[in-house]
This record gives sequence, structure tokens and C-alpha cells, in this order.
Amino acid sequence: LYDRDGWIWQDGEWCAWRDAKVHVFTHTLHYGMGCFEGVRAYDGPSGTHLFRTAEHTRRLAESAHSLDMPLPFSEAELVDAQRQCLAKNKLSNAYLKPTVFFGAEGLGLRAQGLTTHVMVAAWDLGPYISPQAATHGLRALTSSWARHHVNISLCRAKTNGHYVNSMLALNTALKAGFDETIMLDPEGYVAEASAANVFLLRDGVLHTPEVTSCLQGITRDSVIQLAQQVLGIEVRERRMTRDELYTADEAFLTGTAAEILPLRELDGRRIGGRAGGPPVNEPISQASVTAQLQRLYRQAVRGELDDFRHWLTPA
Ligand code: PMP
Repeated sequence: LYDRDGWIWQDGEWCAWRDAKVHVFTHTLHYGMGCFEGVRAYDGPSGTHLFRTAEHTRRLAESAHSLDMPLPFSEAELVDAQRQCLAKNKLSNAYLKPTVFFGAEGLGLRAQGLTTHVMVAAWDLGPYISPQAATHGLRALTSSWARHHVNISLCRAKTNGHYVNSMLALNTALKAGFDETIMLDPEGYVAEASAANVFLLRDGVLHTPEVTSCLQGITRDSVIQLAQQVLGIEVRERRMTRDELYTADEAFLTGTAAEILPLRELDGRRIGGRAGGPPVNEPISQASVTAQLQRLYRQAVRGELDDFRHWLTPA
């Protein structure tokens, strides 16, 4: 990722991609105190737009504020940096990573005299998620690693250090031959996947964990609004258990990078498979709520749903 053409916005200036370096004493590298966002831009019939960048940028500013990292740029300036980053790099479909980190002025935990730096990089995500995953769904393993607790970290902040826990869980699942992991909170209730929120459908109602241990996902919010306002489906945010996922009619994951991915199997139980039978490896039904939401989401990000045009910012 480091050896390529392009431009990175660093503290208000353009830096050639290859020269965008930090010192080895960068504080965030040592203790994980920092925050970031994952934002996407999509090309649609009316041009390239950033998707819900105002909400992402607000979450970034709130993460920095909660972490007590003074942000030297306004949200409007950061949205503008993202727009410029697309133009400067001639990108249309892109993934953007605005990131806030402490400088290398000192190594102490007191974080005294540290400067806060901000960078925005954008690149073409390419085939990040396999098309097969979107149609056939993922096989997941419940993690033995608990997700964060509200009194251990700031669960609403998208903090760099949180991802140690995500990687431990994901890598354990990958090594065991699964595609994803479902993490439980410290009390054993379903929290989220490694970098995505989780939903289940049962008897026509969608359920998703309340925002305690999981990130307050922006795709989660988009899906809630699309389900309620377009499909007229009730959504309940509440505690849920892993057996509710085993016995759900449908389940799926949501995230900016993942978009909407069906969960096909959890711990070897086929979801939507109460009647038993062998594991199946077929595309999900186009009539399923998951597939309907996938289609709506695809339209929304491309600016094809008039009622949700306000989610888009022209590049
Ligand atoms: N949970 C975690 C841990 C994540 O990293 C992400 C991705 N940002 C999500 C959930 C989904 O959030 P969003 O829909 O805002 O991308």
C-alpha cells in the first residue's frame, strides 16, 4: 500500500503518497491512542458522491473529543479534505481513511505537549469483498474473545487500539477455516463482527444489538432507516444472544467496507435452517429481506433513492 502514485492530505497539505511518512516515535504507534474513519465514495448516474461523510466526520470529531485529542481542523474542513482527496487522486469509487494520531514529541502516557495530526488517504478499494460473499454469505465462528466493555474503553469511539481485540478474534476464526467472527460482549450478549454490525430477522422483525459494546455503525443506521422507511419493517435495538442468531430466519452484517453481507452459518448452524439438513452453499433468495436491503443500499449509495439523496455529498 505504501509504494504507489497519488496524494495524501496531511495536516492541510498535499504529500506524495510515497513520502507520507511518520517518525518511529509517533505516539499512536506505541499506545494505540488515535481514531479514524472508513468512508466511501461511489460513482452513480449523477456523478461521484461521498456517502454519509457528514456522519462519518462527526463520528471522527466525537471520537477525538472523547479521547481528549484536540482536533486542529473543523468538520467542514475535513469533509472538504475528503472531497479534494478524490479529485486530486482522480478517484470515483473509493475508500477514504481520515485518521487522527498523536505526533512524536514524547512517549509518556501523560500525553503532554503532543500535537494531533490528521491525514486523509483515498484509494480504489478494488474487489475488497468477494462477490460470492455478498450472494452466498459468510460462515462465522463465535469468538472466545469478548468485545470491549463501556467501562474498559470508549465503545462509541472508533479508536485504533480497539482493533487489537478485533484482529485477535478475526484471526482465530480465519485460522479455524471460517470467514468471520461474531464477538460477544463481556456478559455474553452478541456485540458485533470484527469490523461490522450484526442484524437478525425473525418473524418479519429486524433485531440488532443496542450500542453498548458495538460501534454505532453508520451502515447500521442506514439499514435501520431503509428497513423502516422503505420496507416498513420494524427494527428493535436490544440485547440478543447467540442462540437467537442460530435460530434466526436471516442474519447479516453491515459496514462501510462490507456493505451488507449475509451471515450463512454461525458455529456450524445454518441460519434460516431450523428444518435441519446439510449446510447449503447457494445464493440467498432474492426475495429475502437481506437481498432487498442489499439492493436498496446499492441504490442509496449511488444516489438513486430520492428520499435519501441527503446522504450524499458531491465529490
Ligand atoms: N463495528 C466495527 C468494529 C467496525 O470497525 C465497523 C466499520 N467501521 C463497523 C462496526 C461498521 O461501522 P460503519 O457502518 O460505520 O462502517
